[in-house]
Amino acid sequence: TLHETYDKCIAYYNDSIFNDTLLEKRLVGEFDTALAEKQFCMYLQPQMTPEGQMLGAEALVRWQHPNRGLIFPGDFINVFERTGLIYRLDKYVWELAVQKLSEWQKHGKNELYISINISAKDFYYMDVYKTITTLVEKYGIIPKTLKLEITETAIMTGISGELEILEQFRNYGFQVEIDDFGSGYSSLNTLKDMDVDVLKIDMGFLRTTKPDRIKRSMSILNNIIDLSKTLGLSVITEGVETKEQVTALTKMGCRIYQGYYFSKPIPIEDFENTYLK
Ligand code: C2E
Ligand code: MG
Ligand code: MG
Ligand code: MG
Repeated sequence: TLHETYDKCIAYYNDSIFNDTLLEKRLVGEFDTALAEKQFCMYLQPQMTPEGQMLGAEALVRWQHPNRGLIFPGDFINVFERTGLIYRLDKYVWELAVQKLSEWQKHGKNELYISINISAKDFYYMDVYKTITTLVEKYGIIPKTLKLEITETAIMTGISGELEILEQFRNYGFQVEIDDFGSGYSSLNTLKDMDVDVLKIDMGFLRTTKPDRIKRSMSILNNIIDLSKTLGLSVITEGVETKEQVTALTKMGCRIYQGYYFSKPIPIEDFENTYLK
């Protein structure tokens, strides 16, 4: 029996933990090459009005790996955050976004915006403010077309002066957005302490299936939307997958949506062919 248990442990170790760590190590080892060979690409997911007008998009990174295929952020963002590589990836993705905005603006599309994700870890490894403003000045884009997404947890646990940096960003003219609002520990405290422009409601509220929970979620959503109005913030609901969700939330006063109901994140070329022709 002791042997059996031991074998099981080994099997378990081999199947999951060992392979996961090994895969992580490989991904980390492949990072420099991937960056140099432009294997990371920016997908865009549109943000829409209930009537179907596209207002802008969120930039979401994908890793087009030469032998592993398309890898999603869930498989590498955490790893890169833990190993201190994330800031190099983010800097790269931010530049793709700013480049794209500058191209659109050269064609007179001055209203379209792109939201970029800022990891909490970015603040430890670089001067986020300087990095982003330098990019914006290099490409000469309109600051308000760049939206900066940051999670509430990242801000509230931040020890690198994040609150002050966000204020500087707003003064510069960027729009600042709390991502995954409602999934952190202290959502309401966050609102008390920080000045932002947009709340992006966490999709967890929409992922419940038990009928009584759906009712409760809807009531919380209703209140978040009211609250954001009172505070003068605009609100985006993320993760809408059905028409019913859009209808219900629109009745509550939400005007901007991002979710599979409208579109999944798609390659830039598809995005432009679908929305900018
Ligand atoms: P996020 O910033 O909250 O982005 C939204 C995620 O929800 C995206 O997953 C998007 O594909 C997914 N999503 C949107 N609508 C729906 C829907 O209707 N149903 C479902 N089930 N999912 C939906 P994705 O692209 O896999 O990204 C996951 C997370 O990885 C992002 O969450 C963000 O935290 C992080 N991430 C992605 N790209 C970057 C990046 O360039 N830099 C950094 N630092 N983080 C990134
Ligand atoms: Mg985001
Ligand atoms: Mg989110
Ligand atoms: Mg997230």
